[in-house]
Amino acid sequence: PEAVSQALHDVFGFPGFRGVQDQVVGRVLQGQSTLAVMPTGAGKSLTYQLPAVLLPGTCVVVSPLIALMHDQLRSATANGIRAATLTSADENRGETMDRFRAGELDLLYVAPERASQPHFRELLSQSRIALFAIDEAHCVSEWGHDFRPDYRLLKPLLDMFPQVPRLALTATADHHTRTDILAQLGIAEDGLIVAGFDRPNIRYTIRPRDNAMRQLKAVLDENPGPGIIYAPTRARVEQLAESLASATGRRVLPYHAGLPPEVRARNQAAFVASEDMVMVATVAFGMGIDKPDVRFVAHAGIPKSIEGYYQETGRAGRDGDPSVAVMFWGADDFARARQRLSEVDPQRQQNERQRLESLAGLVETADCRRAVLLRHFGEEPSARCGNCDNCLEPADVIDATTIAQKLLSAVYRTGQSYGFGHLEKVLCGVSDDRVLQRGHDQLSVFGILREEEKPLLKALARALQARGSLVPTEHGGLALGGDARTILKGDAAVMIVRPPKKERRRRGGADG
Ligand code: ADP
Ligand code: ZN
Repeated sequence: PEAVSQALHDVFGFPGFRGVQDQVVGRVLQGQSTLAVMPTGAGKSLTYQLPAVLLPGTCVVVSPLIALMHDQLRSATANGIRAATLTSADENRGETMDRFRAGELDLLYVAPERASQPHFRELLSQSRIALFAIDEAHCVSEWGHDFRPDYRLLKPLLDMFPQVPRLALTATADHHTRTDILAQLGIAEDGLIVAGFDRPNIRYTIRPRDNAMRQLKAVLDENPGPGIIYAPTRARVEQLAESLASATGRRVLPYHAGLPPEVRARNQAAFVASEDMVMVATVAFGMGIDKPDVRFVAHAGIPKSIEGYYQETGRAGRDGDPSVAVMFWGADDFARARQRLSEVDPQRQQNERQRLESLAGLVETADCRRAVLLRHFGEEPSARCGNCDNCLEPADVIDATTIAQKLLSAVYRTGQSYGFGHLEKVLCGVSDDRVLQRGHDQLSVFGILREEEKPLLKALARALQARGSLVPTEHGGLALGGDARTILKGDAAVMIVRPPKKERRRRGGADG
């Protein structure tokens, strides 16, 4: 224990362990295989780097991204740890292998695809291995959100060295994925250590998107510190970065995989060094970036999953100071995501669908956002956190089942091919040319909405799309999906959060 705290202090400069770090390090030093589930920013690297320094032999780290490896390499080397990477991008592979064999390395980072190379197996058997660390271990599971087939090749390799302990690390694993990782990497069930996922200093807010520019500008105006805005496409990133810079006068830079590497590196370095810069980025940005004082993370559209949301918002407030996470979502985000579902291979579709349902649940809920998040990760949080939009301003929930039945009937009776605007006219009894031409003024649903129901229609359509009861057609129309028929039969209720006042006024006044 003496040597451990000494190394913690001398090598890493930390006064003590954080959270479950000591538990994980303790197990590893005793040679016990472990799966550590720790949120982003909890300090996973230390749990293998410290044993790597203390144990005789080399800690072999499997990591999925070369860029990530090189970041790790830099910070390990800066701490005086003898580390190297063995990737196709490294020109000094021969030298690294020699050092590895000679026992001159504490850490060796490799990509998973190396595991299947006979040459690499031979190299391992010629060297002394202290520990196998498997970073981003959820990649081994098809249940995880980022399955990589190469990770499946690891177990046969690890099994060749049964005396070497394994440490699997991940930030994002629901119950199912965890069990799968344990099995796929041959780690006993009692080797699971889960850190608390709560990030109490982050305030969560999730709002429907009406005018993304105006909404994001407000976020920037309220939060002068450094922040990240995630946007779904490269084009959107560029466009938002430009408009926000001129609208707010703040320093706003873009980041996405389509920019030249030197521009990306420059923008990232500027962000890390800055105390007030805003980075508009695709999800390509953020992994492996160590900036503790990010004050806000905004999403201009929905993330891929709750896991993704947690990971991306988790980049805010690593220093523990108050920070905000704001998401602006639209029905079209869910429409697109569902469209993409049909392109996924059938084996994974069910899985991906479930992921999207969970996300829709988080977006639509009138309950505490944090409670929904933490329950998703298998925790049992208290019902209200007091630091999310729904806790601070309890949402007004209304039973919209009857309106939902009216809207779904209108979709059905018009032949499941018209968009929201047309359906709204039919339901509100607006007989424009198109309505008359199609004879939709003759339908039983024509003008069926009561005055007080009209302002709720947009929010309802959004909620029905989020939950999959309405799905987009190829030509921009809406069709019945999911539990639509159950709702129509009166066997399922539709509760929605009352939309913001502004939207109610606009919709109510102008007939859409
Ligand atoms: P993760 O990989 O879990 O996202 P990192 O290993 O990158 O997290 O660590 C996140 C940050 O926390 C880094 O800045 C790291 O230096 C810091 N850190 C890790 N362990 C400790 C500790 N025991 N005390 C103080 N800071 C720590
Ligand atoms: Zn809450």
